[in-house]
Amino acid sequence: MTLSIEDPIAGLSGVGEKRAEALNELGINTISDLLTYFPFRFEDLTAKSIDEIEDNEKVVLEGVAISEGTVSYFGRKRNRLTFRMNCDHVIVSVTFFNQPYLKKQIETGKEIKVFGKWDGIRKQLSGIKILSSDSASDQEAIYHSSKKIRQSTIFKLIEKAWDQYKDVIPEDVPDPLRRKHNLLTRKEMIYRMHFPADSRELEEARYSVIFREFFIYQLRMAWIKRQTKLAQNGLTIDYDVRQLKMFFDSLPYELTQAQKRVVNEVCKDLKIKGQMFRLLQGDVGSGKTVVAASAILAAKTAGKQSALMAPTEILATQHKQSLDEMFDKTEINVELLTGSTRRKERDKILARLRTGDIDCLIGTHALIQEGVVFDSLALVITDEQHRFGVDQRKNLREKGLNPDVLFMTATPIPRTLSITAYGEMDVSVIDEMPLGRKPISTYWIRPKHFDRMTGFLKKELEKGHQVYIISPLIEESEMMDLEDVTALYHTYQEILGDSFTVGLLHGKMSASEKEATMEEFQRNAIQVLVSTTVIEVGVNVPNATLMIIHDADRFGLAQLHQLRGRVGRGEQESYCILIADPKGEKGAERMQIITETSDGFALSQRDLEMRGPGNIFGKKQSGLPEFKVADIVEDFSILEEARMAAQQLIQTEAFYNKEEYSSLRNSLGITKENEMILD
Ligand code: ADP
Ligand code: MG
Repeated sequence: MTLSIEDPIAGLSGVGEKRAEALNELGINTISDLLTYFPFRFEDLTAKSIDEIEDNEKVVLEGVAISEGTVSYFGRKRNRLTFRMNCDHVIVSVTFFNQPYLKKQIETGKEIKVFGKWDGIRKQLSGIKILSSDSASDQEAIYHSSKKIRQSTIFKLIEKAWDQYKDVIPEDVPDPLRRKHNLLTRKEMIYRMHFPADSRELEEARYSVIFREFFIYQLRMAWIKRQTKLAQNGLTIDYDVRQLKMFFDSLPYELTQAQKRVVNEVCKDLKIKGQMFRLLQGDVGSGKTVVAASAILAAKTAGKQSALMAPTEILATQHKQSLDEMFDKTEINVELLTGSTRRKERDKILARLRTGDIDCLIGTHALIQEGVVFDSLALVITDEQHRFGVDQRKNLREKGLNPDVLFMTATPIPRTLSITAYGEMDVSVIDEMPLGRKPISTYWIRPKHFDRMTGFLKKELEKGHQVYIISPLIEESEMMDLEDVTALYHTYQEILGDSFTVGLLHGKMSASEKEATMEEFQRNAIQVLVSTTVIEVGVNVPNATLMIIHDADRFGLAQLHQLRGRVGRGEQESYCILIADPKGEKGAERMQIITETSDGFALSQRDLEMRGPGNIFGKKQSGLPEFKVADIVEDFSILEEARMAAQQLIQTEAFYNKEEYSSLRNSLGITKENEMILD
């Protein structure tokens, strides 16, 4: 029988049914899984000299045993083993509790190495274990273990698997590439990850692991990207430049440089035959809608249809209004189709869509799912892209006619995240605000100053302006000890109810209830809207000039920034008040940062550094791949290097023909067949 590292774990001697089960639970099913089950940290077992260690420090002491070990028993099961050792002329007393069997390893006059906890006052070492004197390494691997399997067992099994399988570990990255990026062979890398001789060896191994993780992931991204680019079944949208120019001339403002650049990027994609798969990022208010509009118009002038999708009906409705306004002087048929569209109206719209009479259909995600048939759909635009998972993105791309796809998002995504989460897409960024936009004055107050704040709130309302109040409950976690949105609603009702109308909006309301409330707020029938984060995206009520956010420290910086983008949409000076009692210094620092910074990208970069990637997308829909060792923030420079290498390789002919790349090709599922489709 030939050995393969894909053999199931149960084949390893010493792994019975129970252990196999325990290993499976840790995600270890094959020998390969076991060999790449890397330690998450190492205990430093370099021997230290007594004058450099601190009281209570865990250390390794090296010396000569000057007594035999003596075991004394106290109680039925408890015992103590003691002996003395000479550590560079300091006599140290060593004690082990309940490990009497260690006695035979202690021999007068012999060198000995003990790992333990140092009691500097009594010059005693409370022993944890005796290290074998011939142990090559001064680093001990520590593994994630479970109740069912101890980490020392995991280590022993890894040693065993290594012994048996070390000669059948296949290489994944070919020689030249490995040399170019200073990578160890896969075999050497695995060895050093578990059994490094010193910290330098370990660092080299870690680099090799991290590079491979990023490289293989980025290779997949580059492969998808290439496929989309080369797709022969993509559509060409041969638009009329003259009509587009007329459209831009008809707008009451000139596009910013950033908008112009992005319009050009998008139009170029429309024109070429390959499929567009582009992410458009732009801070709240940066003017993404007009970019979408120009693409829709471009498609129309080429006789093609488009679809614009928003995450909620409110936003879809708003897009309809904006487009109607922008297209006022243009002959283009835009229709809205949502869950609340009446049956008769719906049938009419669908019929007109099939004949090509409608140029652009706006709606929620349901648009492309419910058997809505277009005549010549060539462009799909989605707003607030981060609410789509990776698979939904894939579905969109593969939709029937291979339409060009543009995802828009107001979540500023730091580069390190975007090339990971959206590595398979092209990215356009609107990094400039329209002229004259006033920053939103942001203040942070402690809850004890709530009463003083209400004075300011009343003044703002008396000017005829409207206000958002944000409570973080319900959509977040109900377990958290947060003020309930309804309680908050009653609080404001009590303070303001005599003079103003207070409304309530939260995720547990039905779509039509939400819709109705939002509509009332829009026409100023409600002046104060107490809401959870359901209003986070896109809503546009220019008369709202103040936002008050409760428990603000519970939000990510990027999310706070998105929220406050609901105000400052009109001519008036706008404000955001953050109420928070953050615990640590870090929390206070975060509140400080958001009051001082109005650059969404800078904020999300800080967020990423301070709280990790989960907070930028929201944990559930992060869409981020999980790496075993690599960290996209800390190892960013390796990520960039691996990405470049992947992009280069995917364009190299050798990658598709040479045997040495077969392992990498297999990991992408590239067979000769699907490569043929491209050529
Ligand atoms: P977002 O990127 O948040 O979707 P919008 O497209 O809704 O932003 O634009 C926000 C506001 O800015 C709209 O009222 C829009 O008319 C206006 N706007 C867009 N581009 C410009 C520009 N170049 N100059 C001035 N105002 C602009
Ligand atoms: Mg928008």
